[in-house]
Amino acid sequence: MPVGGRFALIVLAMLALNWVLASQIPSDPERVTVPYSYFREQALEDNIAEVSSENDTIEGTFRRDVQYPNPEEGRSTDRFETERPAFADDEILGLLLSKNVKISARAPGGRSALATILLSFGPTLLLVGLFVLLMRRAQGMAGAQGGMLGSLGKSRARRYDASATRTTFADVAGIDEVTDELAEVVSFLREPERFRRLGGMMPRGVLLTGLPGTGKTLLARALAGEAEVPFYSLSASEFVEMIVGVGASRVRDLFQHAKDDAPSIIFIDELDAIGRVRGAGNLGGGSDEREQTLNQILTEMDGFDGSEGVIVLAATNRPEILDPALLRAGRFDRRIVVNPPDQEGRKKILDVHTRSVPLADDVDLGSIASSTPGMVGADLRTLVNEAALAAAKRAADAVAPEDFTGALEKTLLGTARRIVLSAEERRLTAYHESGHALLGMLEPGADPVRKVSIIPRGTSLGVTFQSPDADRYGYGAAYLRGRIAGALGGRAAEELVFGDVTSGAESDLEQATALARQMVGRWGMSEKLGLVSVLPGPGQETVLLPGAPGAASEHTRELVDEEVRHIIDECYEHALDILRGHRPLLDDLAAALLESETLDEADAYRAAGLPARGRTLATS
Ligand code: ADP
Ligand code: MG
Ligand code: ZN
Repeated sequence: MPVGGRFALIVLAMLALNWVLASQIPSDPERVTVPYSYFREQALEDNIAEVSSENDTIEGTFRRDVQYPNPEEGRSTDRFETERPAFADDEILGLLLSKNVKISARAPGGRSALATILLSFGPTLLLVGLFVLLMRRAQGMAGAQGGMLGSLGKSRARRYDASATRTTFADVAGIDEVTDELAEVVSFLREPERFRRLGGMMPRGVLLTGLPGTGKTLLARALAGEAEVPFYSLSASEFVEMIVGVGASRVRDLFQHAKDDAPSIIFIDELDAIGRVRGAGNLGGGSDEREQTLNQILTEMDGFDGSEGVIVLAATNRPEILDPALLRAGRFDRRIVVNPPDQEGRKKILDVHTRSVPLADDVDLGSIASSTPGMVGADLRTLVNEAALAAAKRAADAVAPEDFTGALEKTLLGTARRIVLSAEERRLTAYHESGHALLGMLEPGADPVRKVSIIPRGTSLGVTFQSPDADRYGYGAAYLRGRIAGALGGRAAEELVFGDVTSGAESDLEQATALARQMVGRWGMSEKLGLVSVLPGPGQETVLLPGAPGAASEHTRELVDEEVRHIIDECYEHALDILRGHRPLLDDLAAALLESETLDEADAYRAAGLPARGRTLATS
């Protein structure tokens, strides 16, 4: 049933209920209803003071209180009501006049017709009015910035119009392939003839996928600024709201607008909010609503035959949880992956975000880019912002390299905490971090150690930060074992030096275990288990839950646990061996840490008496 119909039905039902309830309220509790004969008797006994009548209903007051029907049961009252039978031809008027009764013809003293209606329907109308008002308010607040004050079920998509502060492709850096591909799609839209002549089909749906912060939303905004066609943007979570049945009609409305304005672009951000696999995770309420919305989108997209000139652009961080129906041919069949930027890309993104930031002459954005592998556009923006804040704190005119170093430290390692450690705790922490660092320095192929610190930050007492020289896109088994050994290096140093261990290695153990599990269960790096995938990848957790079809058997999962333990044990032994074999280096490094608390790359390698690895040393 359409939304409007359902709503109207509910209102009707409420009105009816209201009517029934209102009619149950006695019109006047004090007035006793008496038979006509009794009324006549009283008139004859000269006990009527006043009457008024409307049609055959007579109301009035007695001169003396009466108790009707009899003195034992009745209430004592002086007000009555009676019905005059149609066949009565008695001279009641003469009788009343002779008894000096005051007679009037105004409406009986009960409620007027208007009052009756108000009482019957008023409460319901009030409720409905209030409800509509609230909805208007809720929509008005959200829709206000967009200027489109939609009513119930109207899409709240915002139409972008070129404004003074529009985003352009110049604001998007370091992901040129993606930008080009999108621009190409738009060119189809603007010159459809070029394609149709060659028999090409316009893409109907384009899906942007990629990690959070890689610039998908930014890209869409830039497209809106550049495309020169109407651009409707909407966040998927806006479709699905508490009011049931609205999502689907919003979709219908949105597509209608877009078609009227064709050629045009519809942008649905965070598509996963509605596009999740149908029927999965139906625990909370509202999933029904989501499915209806999703179905409506599918229906609308199927309704395109390519001649409308409408392209649906969507973005998501989690393409793997999308309903397969969305990815079918003819829907979001063109997928564009937005990858995290490489070193050159990061440099360009830093350029964009420092356009309006005064930089000191010796700031080298290239070297910042090289020391931030894995960071995405949003991280880099935060980094620049932190650096600018630090410079402002110093009341400096320009942002200096130290501001960037500090900001990077803060972003990577967390903010320093002011807690005082005992001498013993400091010594233990120094050895713990030295253990991590030394393994990072000695393990062939390991990521170079960039910073070691025993200043407490966040939940940890110290940090060792390593990062590769170049961006990494895959991992070798030897490298991963080195990483596990490195993660266990802190605990190994504690055991070696103090003969006792602390709880400080909790997150190290978590990290080592997670790596080992993935090696065994996802990456086929265990001989015993072989090349099978046992553990769910990101987004597949529900699919491969134990017991689900396609999930690994009990036996296999036990084997995984066994192999994980095996790898960890081996790596821990290895860590102990290395540290034992280089005990003097460990002592030197710990002493240097105790003295200066934080060592950067060069200092750390010097303290350990090891040659620093040049930037040219490629990773395995
Ligand atoms: P996503 O939608 O992919 O999660 P956003 O588009 O919201 O990421 O990115 C957040 C912010 O990060 C942007 O507003 C922008 O300031 C910055 N950013 C991300 N990627 C880039 C990029 N390639 N170039 C410039 N800035 C970027
Ligand atoms: Mg986004
Ligand atoms: Zn540690």
